[in-house]
Amino acid sequence: MGNAEKRRVVIAGGGFFGCSIAMMLQRRGWQPIVVEEAGELLTQASRINQARVHGGYHYPRSLMTAYRSRQNYERFRLHYRDAIVDQFTKVYAIGRLFSKVTANQFEVFMKRVGAPLKAAPSAIQRLFNPVLTERIWLAQECAFDFSVLRDKLQRELAAAGIEVRLNTLVQTATPHPSGALARFSDGSECPCAYLFNATYAGLNRLTSASGLPLIPLKHELTEMALVELPQNLDGLSVTMMCGPFFSFMPFPSLGLTTLSHVRYTPHAHWFENEQTGASNPYRIFKSLDKQSHFELMVADASRYVPSLRGAVHRDSLWTVKTLLPLSEIDDGRPILFHRDAKLPAVIHVMGGKIDNIFDVEDEVARLLGTSR
Ligand SMILES: Cc1cc2nc3c(=O)[nH]c(=O)nc-3n(C[C@H](O)[C@H](O)[C@H](O)COP(=O)(O)OP(=O)(O)OC[C@H]3O[C@@H](n4cnc5c(N)ncnc54)[C@H](O)[C@@H]3O)c2cc1C
Repeated sequence: MGNAEKRRVVIAGGGFFGCSIAMMLQRRGWQPIVVEEAGELLTQASRINQARVHGGYHYPRSLMTAYRSRQNYERFRLHYRDAIVDQFTKVYAIGRLFSKVTANQFEVFMKRVGAPLKAAPSAIQRLFNPVLTERIWLAQECAFDFSVLRDKLQRELAAAGIEVRLNTLVQTATPHPSGALARFSDGSECPCAYLFNATYAGLNRLTSASGLPLIPLKHELTEMALVELPQNLDGLSVTMMCGPFFSFMPFPSLGLTTLSHVRYTPHAHWFENEQTGASNPYRIFKSLDKQSHFELMVADASRYVPSLRGAVHRDSLWTVKTLLPLSEIDDGRPILFHRDAKLPAVIHVMGGKIDNIFDVEDEVARLLGTSR
């Protein structure tokens, strides 16, 4: 076995996590190669998302996620400062009916995790329907521009001399004396010490094709409506907590706003586990009907913020959202960092949100026995 093979790591998936892991490995003296099915990096979940840098507010039922979010928030802002968009006013509110937490509980919880809240000024309070809204705060939370993250990663990968193979699928990972043998859709093979499966929705497509145990996952076909806000809501972002409510957030790369709704953003869902078997989420995604739920979203959301009725629907962003089953219970966003039980050279990685990258880096350091 050559020296290069001993240090070679294949990363399946050129999303934010796959590209970032490649950089972590290169800094530690490994030789990563990023293999991406699409013709570009960051085309899937890392592009089509709500663009929120989570500040902890979104998870009032998961202390661990909220706490870690707050810890990672400033770190993310600093590390990816060029991608940060914070020229808007972030408002969180609690619904009076159907909310899983009360306004008092929300305040106490956010104090515990160190997420600042300030009573919203009356000009903002007046935008809300007081019958349905218990309390409204200003919060410290910003957005990220995925295209800046993509360009930054592309530059870093190139400067580090890391090979990136686009339009190439990692089809299988099988045992090999060096650790694992990756087989690619162009017919080539690559022996490696480790293979990181950072394919998000595609995690089980790779495990099942490789005869490895399936990772229990839930997939959702999701729609975020892209809207232009009415003038009086310009520069504002609102997240209504904590239940079947809505959120609108800037989507910086397009200069529009996403409107999402807990009830209407998911259009369909399916599970993957040893009982159900694996699926091809990308094929399912293509086959499912994509009739917009914008009207339903705006009809419900404008009961809380009446002027939202004036939002103009420009388009919708559609993708597959993948969740770990644990998230179903407390809406938390833990990371998956799992050494395959059958083929330990394969590591399955998924971050439920973008700032989880720092938690993944801790795990990578632990795995390789190195410090940051
Ligand atoms: C609707 C939605 C809203 C979200 N909102 C937020 C938010 O506001 N804030 C936040 O922090 N997080 C949010 N997230 C989560 C966040 O987007 C993800 O945690 C993150 O983007 C995952 O990055 P990734 O690199 O793992 O996945 P991806 O970006 O999906 O990358 C996986 C890549 O693997 C490729 N691939 C798949 N199979 C193979 C294969 N076999 N071989 C080669 N390549 C393969 C795919 O083409 C893809 O490019 C949201 C996610 C969704 C879906």
